[in-house]
Amino acid sequence: MEFIDTHSHIYDTAFDEDRQEVIKRCKAAGLRSLVLPAIDMSTYDAQMDALSSMEGYAFGAMGLHPTSVCANWKEELDFAAGKIEEGSWCAVGEIGLDTYWSSDFIDEQLEVLRVQLNLALRMNLPVILHVRNAMDRTIDVLREIKGLRGVFHAFSGSLESYKEIRRLGDFKIGIGGVLTYRNAGVASVLEQVPLQDIVLETDCPYLSPVPYRGRRNESSYIPVIASKVQSIKGCSIEEVAEITTENARKLFGI
Ligand SMILES: [Zn+2]
Repeated sequence: MEFIDTHSHIYDTAFDEDRQEVIKRCKAAGLRSLVLPAIDMSTYDAQMDALSSMEGYAFGAMGLHPTSVCANWKEELDFAAGKIEEGSWCAVGEIGLDTYWSSDFIDEQLEVLRVQLNLALRMNLPVILHVRNAMDRTIDVLREIKGLRGVFHAFSGSLESYKEIRRLGDFKIGIGGVLTYRNAGVASVLEQVPLQDIVLETDCPYLSPVPYRGRRNESSYIPVIASKVQSIKGCSIEEVAEITTENARKLFGI
């Protein structure tokens, strides 16, 4: 079985002590590739170091994360946009809207999102969307800017949102460790979503699946998430691996 972690921050400082060991565990667990989304200027060097040390195994996405849209947002956006235009990325991301902690910069977040979505269209790249406490607003933006494809990372919306998203573009939903938490709302949505519409992700070092919850997450835990998907969908884990890997491969061109 082969898997792809479509959302790994393996370049995070949480892995500085043992990154090589983690990569070994990923390969042993059947991870055939990792997608590394960007955050902002402060994480760029670490992301690039990780990408060059894992050439052919890890693939980078570039973009400005919505929680990094603050007072210096113009400088951050110029930086991300410039890097996106330089090319060699498998996606634009992670980008989106997040009003969970604060809505102070929501107008700027919207502007930054629109610019990056248009850039993705122009570069013919998929997008990795981070949407937290902002699903309706995001859907409104996707009604304006059509023709996109990508993934709703850490999807936590309703079945209605999922259906609307599918009408607006070729979007997958990213399923991660949250699925293994008790009373996770995404489990009941997943029952209605075909495997062809999902990709697997960890968002490591965050959001560890049970039984690792509360500890550092890592990409080698993807099979734990796959086995939860398998139990909800009532299929084999081989089928989950095969279909989600193919979805990710096609979406990101990797
Ligand atoms: Zn992330």
